[in-house]
Amino acid sequence: MFLLWNIASVVEKTIFEKIISREIPANIVFENDIAVIIRDINPQAPVHVLIIPKRRIDRIEAAQDGDVELLGKLLIMARDFAKSHNLTGFRLVINNGKQAGETAPHLHIHLLSDRLMGWPPG
Ligand code: AMP
Repeated sequence: MFLLWNIASVVEKTIFEKIISREIPANIVFENDIAVIIRDINPQAPVHVLIIPKRRIDRIEAAQDGDVELLGKLLIMARDFAKSHNLTGFRLVINNGKQAGETAPHLHIHLLSDRLMGWPPG
């Protein structure tokens, strides 16, 4: 089952690849040469955006050492989004694997803000 899930994720375009190529609509709030930031369709906080690299990496465990610059830039984008929206308290989340809640096999960073966050996370 795990193998089938992995094979399917390689051959099919991800929802985020379709958003990036404008095949399906999304609320894109920022875009540059390496990534887009979109509003999550099912927000878990008043502010809930996804920072998504244009080059697909399935999930953080699939990242290569050579992805270090891209990964760093995604965090800097999160910083800049928070700063430009005057968000002082925010949480960044990456779900890796089904058990952790991953539903889209295309690496993305959740940025959640504007409500009190509990710990530990559910
Ligand atoms: P994850 O569960 O960590 O893989 O996160 C995937 C996220 O993508 C979820 O929070 C979904 O609500 C969100 N999502 C799925 N489809 C769309 C879409 N078409 N536009 C915006 N967000 C989406």
